[in-house]
Amino acid sequence: MKILVANLGSTSFKYRLFDLSDPAEPVLARGAVERIGAASSPCTVHLPSGPQTREAAVPDHGVAVRMCLEQLTDPATGVLKSADEVAAIGFKAVHAKHLSGVVRVDGAVLEAMEAYADVCPAHNPPYTKAMRLLAEKLPEIPLVAAFETDFHQSIPESSKRYAIPEEWATKFGIKRHGFHGASHRYIATRMAEILGRNDAKIISCHLGGSNSLAAIDSGKSQGCSLGMSPQSGLPHNNRVGDIDVFALPVVLRETGQSLEQVLHTLAEKSGLLGICGLNDLRDIENAAAKGDVQAKLALDVFITDIRRYLGSFLVALGGADAIVFTGGIGENSTVVREGVCRDLGWFGIELDLTKNATAKGESQLSAEGSRVQIWTVPTNEELIVARQTRDLLASAKS
Ligand code: ADP
Repeated sequence: MKILVANLGSTSFKYRLFDLSDPAEPVLARGAVERIGAASSPCTVHLPSGPQTREAAVPDHGVAVRMCLEQLTDPATGVLKSADEVAAIGFKAVHAKHLSGVVRVDGAVLEAMEAYADVCPAHNPPYTKAMRLLAEKLPEIPLVAAFETDFHQSIPESSKRYAIPEEWATKFGIKRHGFHGASHRYIATRMAEILGRNDAKIISCHLGGSNSLAAIDSGKSQGCSLGMSPQSGLPHNNRVGDIDVFALPVVLRETGQSLEQVLHTLAEKSGLLGICGLNDLRDIENAAAKGDVQAKLALDVFITDIRRYLGSFLVALGGADAIVFTGGIGENSTVVREGVCRDLGWFGIELDLTKNATAKGESQLSAEGSRVQIWTVPTNEELIVARQTRDLLASAKS
């Protein structure tokens, strides 16, 4: 079964095509259509024969998918005989009102996602816009939404619950739902294979453009630093992370701005960017190394907050077998990994500084004798979405 997994931006469509009939679950092709809506858009695909780029007028995401299917079915170089071979398009969807799990996209799902456009302003609007278009223009291809909250449905109510009136929690769904579910699920699955056991306690640190820690016991999420929205928890590249809501009336009063303007600042001009004016961790590390005080502060705040959740999850799980770093920062930043693991010998967490400095790809970073293993594992969210999409289609047939 061939599944196309889509990653949408407001002007981009990135994809991977998986063949899940093959036990090795290979990626047959990956590609991207960028600058959708511009006069000319580059459509790039990486095929076994090599990369190919075409320039074409791509006014919307419907045409972008058609371009992708054309390149995948090219008689000379393509990997598909016909577009009918694509069993479904799977989406790593973020959040919807009163909805989680893995579902076929229909009118009700789109409405539930649209109802949370303001909860997930960077994610839901481009997804629902593109999904509506695809449902209309390519009705023959099933669309499947695998929600990021799905993996976290196992979090106990006592950890999901904010201390707010009952009606807000139960009727309005104001809870710590948790996100980055596909990434944390991949880490849980892969670490069970690496450790050769299904009952391990793992703290998964997904650190990239957005950031979260998850506490995982026996493959099930027991906690996530992300709460009601993707703006919560740790600071993100430009999103705020946790903040006391009673700061809001002060900001509204002092700036004279509307609630909408303040929320925009919290969702796009805060996080690491808000502290130091830079949002790429490589730039922040370089600036901090050259003595930029604000960049150093951003790095310190980031590491301090990761350690806050690490401590909380070590207690929640009653210890850990492994701490795993993933995402662009988790896989690459020796500075962040070293900062997070500093002085934790009492907890049985000891990083090998040489392994940390030289790690490439999937690697163990813990020192000889460290009670808790420390790993870096490249995540594979698309594979999880492809598997979930296949499983949904299979369950619908049976
Ligand atoms: P996204 O969440 O947008 O998918 P990624 O997981 O690709 O983002 O992570 C992007 C982040 O990873 C950026 O802040 C980038 O600076 C950081 N990053 C990538 N490579 C390195 C590196 N070698 N050292 C430090 N940070 C890195």
